[in-house]
Amino acid sequence: MSPPFLLLPPQIIMPSEFRHRLKLLRRRISESDAAALVVTHLPNVRYLSGFTGSAGILVVQPDRATLFTDGRYAVQAPQQVRPAGVHAIIPPTSILRAAGEYLGSRQKRGSHRIAFDPNQLTVAQHKDLRRTGGGRISWIFGTGWVEGLRLLKSPPEIAKMRAAARLISTVFDEVVPLIRPGVTELDLAAEIDYRMRKLGASGPSFETIVASGPRAALPHAQPTRKRLRRNELVVLDAGAILADYCSDLTRTVFVGRASKSIKAWYRAVLEAQAAGIAAVAAGVDSSAPDAAARRVLDAQGLGKYFVHSTGHGLGLEIHEAPRLAKGQKAKLQAGMVVTVEPGIYVEGIGGIRIEDDVAIHAGRTEVMTTATKELLEL
Ligand code: ZN
Ligand code: ZN
Repeated sequence: MSPPFLLLPPQIIMPSEFRHRLKLLRRRISESDAAALVVTHLPNVRYLSGFTGSAGILVVQPDRATLFTDGRYAVQAPQQVRPAGVHAIIPPTSILRAAGEYLGSRQKRGSHRIAFDPNQLTVAQHKDLRRTGGGRISWIFGTGWVEGLRLLKSPPEIAKMRAAARLISTVFDEVVPLIRPGVTELDLAAEIDYRMRKLGASGPSFETIVASGPRAALPHAQPTRKRLRRNELVVLDAGAILADYCSDLTRTVFVGRASKSIKAWYRAVLEAQAAGIAAVAAGVDSSAPDAAARRVLDAQGLGKYFVHSTGHGLGLEIHEAPRLAKGQKAKLQAGMVVTVEPGIYVEGIGGIRIEDDVAIHAGRTEVMTTATKELLEL
């Protein structure tokens, strides 16, 4: 029987949803008294227009949205963006300069304020845009305008993310029998990547982490040729991109029989993770899950080994707002999807991290990743 995520219709973001996103963005643009926003970050271009190519700039104006892309996408671009009501232009030269010239030529009358996101444009690109746009335009910051919309996922987006979370959970279940002494970290990472594609993922949402023994004490270790040995912890952290959306799952297993102290550490991290998940809810501060997870580890004298924050938002990109961390003031809201991933890292011994993807709905939360959290002794 096919796993449920393979039964998803291929395209469930309807054209009306793209139009709605553009409408909300236009409201933001007009609030700032700007005549347009130049969108240069590709995930934002994709979010607003449906375009999936590797070169694209979207100019959003009150009455139209125009995608500038290159000749490689001459066929694909119009097909992808037409349903969203976006017009595609394939200029003979640089798409950035073409966008600048286009804006310059349209600014004969009315507002000359054009917004761009300074986080998504290099200084050289901005210079190019200014030069080609001409002196009549005053450039203003449109920082995080599109990310602000992406923060709250629609039901079809959450459906895709649920499928991506189930996919990576299935991959983990498939890989567990392969974890044994003698296999290398790279072997396991390759199996994870291969299996996610076999199940329909377009690729990993970040470089798959497999870290064994003392290397598991490095929270962001890259897999190496190191072979797994008996009596080692192994941290596996992987995510799949399915229908554009990312998942992110971490599990920690033990090769052999775990000692009492390893079991106690594992229980502590699991308890911290459960406390973190229980603290995720619409209306609470985004620092609350971090505080809840940290409280559990502190109480067991393990707080000093928890060296990162508790989680992050997830969506078209692997790291999005909100951050679940100390000092974060923003409120969690229905429609957000976050990870909850406390961990402890003890130099010379190893590490333990457990991570799930959690969707926030009105009045409830949903843990979308399904892999077991029992300590597996393999
Ligand atoms: Zn992860
Ligand atoms: Zn993560």
